[in-house]
Amino acid sequence: MLLDYVTLLTAVGISAACLSAMIFIGWLMGPKDSFLLNCAIGGALCGLGLLLYGFYVATPKVAIAVAAFCIILVGLSLLVGAGYRFRTERPSRRLVTTLAIIANVLALPLLILGYSGIGFAPINATVAVLLFLVAGQYWGARRHAPVAIGGLCVLYSLMGLTFLLCAIIIAIDGRLTLPGAPSGWAEDFSLLVMIACVPGIGAVTLTLSQTRTAREHQRAAMTDSLTGLMNRRALFKAQGGCPIAAGTAIIVFDIDHFKSINDSHGHAVGDQVIVQFARAIEREIPKDTLAARLGGEEFALVVPSSSADRAFRLAENVCRYFAQMSTSIGIAGFSSTASAGIAFGVVHGGTFEQVLNEADKALYAAKRSGRNRVIPAEPRLYG
Ligand code: GH3
Ligand code: MG
Ligand code: MG
Repeated sequence: MLLDYVTLLTAVGISAACLSAMIFIGWLMGPKDSFLLNCAIGGALCGLGLLLYGFYVATPKVAIAVAAFCIILVGLSLLVGAGYRFRTERPSRRLVTTLAIIANVLALPLLILGYSGIGFAPINATVAVLLFLVAGQYWGARRHAPVAIGGLCVLYSLMGLTFLLCAIIIAIDGRLTLPGAPSGWAEDFSLLVMIACVPGIGAVTLTLSQTRTAREHQRAAMTDSLTGLMNRRALFKAQGGCPIAAGTAIIVFDIDHFKSINDSHGHAVGDQVIVQFARAIEREIPKDTLAARLGGEEFALVVPSSSADRAFRLAENVCRYFAQMSTSIGIAGFSSTASAGIAFGVVHGGTFEQVLNEADKALYAAKRSGRNRVIPAEPRLYG
């Protein structure tokens, strides 16, 4: 090699430690995504382990190698945990502890017994398996960012393959002890691949965290925070300007005399009633229906492939269930009703806004004719 092995190993160790520091700063500054924290600690331990292994290469004392790989195996288990957290958003402490114990038990006994040759075969094989496990965790979450995650999996898997190669070559060589650290073209190749992959892994990890944060912000911007339904912006983004197909119904609901609920029982009870209405909608609507809170105590449904009859029954069921539920609000004698208007897409029909407007007019007809009822709009042609 152009540069000596220990120098390069030290460089990879320092590079991993610095990247971990960057990731840690990313964790501190961001929304405390614990997948990043796992990555930062895991990466730092791997970096520290590599630096220690550099000492072993220079001064081959078995205890140093055991300590180095014990630290590396714990670091890699944390990286598997990071991938698991990223994929499932569930705590990974138990997985990390179990993996770290199993990895150490499988990898280290031969080296501890002094077999400084063949003893490195299970170590390299275990490192390879852990790297493949990290790749597998991210692969399971590839739908979030296919290109970045695909790249991350390639980087972890490439490193895994080089460690597997080292394990196979040490096993074939078969010497029980060696005067120094295992060395040869496989170890050199593995080190070169690490030099190439470690910075890439750091960069993609930070990108992934930012992508996820941006996606969460976007989701929040499209969700009504009180009810969890789509908000007006999301509904108009999905449907705005689109022609409404014949057979699609738009239903608009408005809770009756809602101002007086706020006035008599307070805003908090008003909010509770709004949430109850959202639950009534969720209970009654079919899967393919879009449901949104338009604002205040107004809601809209977009029901595809619906006959006039079916849309009418759906609106009535929502209103009936809401009226029944509202008595359970915890205030003696309290009940609430809602009104709805329905309009339908027709052949060569109008845009979402036009049909929504028709549904709104039908809703106000329902209000004028006494509330607590559903009124369908007359079918009409849009010019
Ligand atoms: P109508 O039967 O004609 O619909 O009468 P209404 O009293 O329901 O009249 P309107 O629809 O105009 O009342 C809407 C009220 O909803 C006015 C506003 O103070 C209240 N409101 C709007 N947003 C919220 C909210 O998020 N929470 C609560 N509690 N009240 C809200
Ligand atoms: Mg209203
Ligand atoms: Mg109202």
